[in-house]
Amino acid sequence: MPRTDPYTRFVRSAPGAAIASRLGLPRPARLPRRADRSAAVLDPVVVLGSTAGADQVARTLLGWGADVRRRFEDVRTVGSVVVVLDELADPRELSDALLPLARAMRRLAPAARVVTISRPATGGRQRPAVEAARGGVEGFVRSLAHELRAGATAGGILVADGVALDAPGVTGTLRFLLSSRSAFVDGQLLTVASSAGELPTAWDRPLEGRTALVTGAARGIGAAIARTLAADGARVVLLDVPAAGTDLARLANELRGVPLQLDVTAPDAGARLVAHCRSHGLVLDIVVHNAGITRDKLFANMTAERWDPVIAVNLASQIALDEALLASGEGTEAGVLAVAPRFVSLASTSGIAGNRGQTNYAASKAGVITLMPALAHALEAGGGTANAVAPGFIETDMTARMPPIPREIARRANSLQQGGLPVDVAEAVAFLASGPAGGLRGETLRVCGQNLVGR
Ligand code: NAD
Repeated sequence: MPRTDPYTRFVRSAPGAAIASRLGLPRPARLPRRADRSAAVLDPVVVLGSTAGADQVARTLLGWGADVRRRFEDVRTVGSVVVVLDELADPRELSDALLPLARAMRRLAPAARVVTISRPATGGRQRPAVEAARGGVEGFVRSLAHELRAGATAGGILVADGVALDAPGVTGTLRFLLSSRSAFVDGQLLTVASSAGELPTAWDRPLEGRTALVTGAARGIGAAIARTLAADGARVVLLDVPAAGTDLARLANELRGVPLQLDVTAPDAGARLVAHCRSHGLVLDIVVHNAGITRDKLFANMTAERWDPVIAVNLASQIALDEALLASGEGTEAGVLAVAPRFVSLASTSGIAGNRGQTNYAASKAGVITLMPALAHALEAGGGTANAVAPGFIETDMTARMPPIPREIARRANSLQQGGLPVDVAEAVAFLASGPAGGLRGETLRVCGQNLVGR
C-alpha cells in the first residue's frame, strides 16, 4: 500500500502544486512518522503556565533532553507548545493563558504540536466557574486543531482532580501526543483518570518483556499493530482465520511471533485460545482485538446474513474471548493473563457518528466503545485497563474497495486532508498497551485526523 494517494502525489509535484494553489485545492502536508522523526519532541518546546504543575511539566521535558523555553520571545520557530492550565478557576483566565500562543501561531514549525494539560469538567462537582473554564479548554483545543496548518496538530490531556502532573499517565500521554507517533491524532483530548501505570525503563522499547495477542493480524491494520508492538519490544501472538494462514505464517516468521489460526467467532474460540497459550507457555500482558469485518447495506435491505456476522466478529467475539481469558485467572499459576493486563479494541468513527449503509457495523463499533468502561471497571482492582482506538479513514484494503468518489470525499474530510496509515492506528494501540497508559480507563482515542463527523 503506497504511503500517499495519487491526488496527494500530484499536488506535491511542481506543476500540481501550482495548479492547486491557483484553484485553492487542498494540499495535504507531509506527516512525519516515527521512521522520519524519532526524537521525542520537536524542539524548541515552549511551556506556558505559571503553576507548580507547569514547572513540573517543564522538568519532565528537560529530563527527556528537550530544548525547553518558558516564553515565545526567546525563539524564532516553535516546534512544540505545552499549555498547562491545571489550576483554572474562571473562564476569564483563559485569555491570559492562551493569547500568547495566538501571537506565535505563524512561527509554528511544520508538523508542530500544541498540547494542553488541564482538569476535566466533573459534571457539577466543582464550582460553576471552574466547570465552565475546564469545558472552555476542550472547545479551544478542538477549534485550534481545525486552524493549524502544515501537518501541525493539537491535543489535550485532562488530568483528573487529585492526580499529579508527573503521574505516569500524564507523562506517557504527553510524550505520545508530542511525538511523531501521533501524526494522525488531531483535536483529541484524553483523560488520565488515575495515577496507575508505570514508566518504561527505555522509552524506545516500552513493551520490552511483554507478550501481546493481536487478532486479525494477517494483514492491514492488524499486521501494522503486530509490527509496531514487536518494534516496541513485545513478543507477539498473531491470530487470524485459517484462510489467512499463509500471510499469518509469513508475518510470524518476520516478527519471530507465535501464529494461531482461529476463527474468533467459533463457539470454542476462547477455550482454544487459552489452550494454545498454555501449550506454548504464553502469559498475555496485552490483548488487541483488531479482527473486524464490514457487510454494508442500507438498512431497508439489511438481512440477518449481513447483520449477524458483523456483530459476531466485531463485538460478541471480544466479549467471549475476554471472558475465557479472565476465567483462566489473572496473574495465577494456571492463568494465561498477566497481572494488570492491557486490553485495546478497534472501534471506528462510524461507531461515533454513524454512517449511511453501516447500521450493523456502527452498532458493533459503538458497542465496542461502551464496552471499554465496563471492561476497564472489571479490570481496575487488578491494575488492568481497557481502551479503544477509533480509526477514521485509513489507507487499507478495506477502504481501497470503496467506490472512487465516496472514497475521495472520505479521505479529504478531516483537518489533515488525507487518509491515515495503518501505522498511525498501530502507534495509538501501542501507546494504550504501554505501561504509562495504566491511568487511562475506558477511553476511546480517535485516530482520524480530526474527521469532520461526530463529536
Ligand atoms: P482488513 O479486512 O484488512 O483486515 C481484517 C483482518 O481480520 C483480516 O486479516 C481478517 O482475516 C481478520 N478476520 C476477519 N474475521 C475474522 C475472524 N472471524 N477471526 C479471526 N480473524 C478475522 O481490515 P482493516 O482495515 O485492517 O481493519 C482492522 C480493524 O480496524 C477492524 O476492526 C476495522 O473495523 C477497523 N477499522 C478500519 C478502518 C479503515 O479505514 N481501514 C477504519 C475504522 C476501523
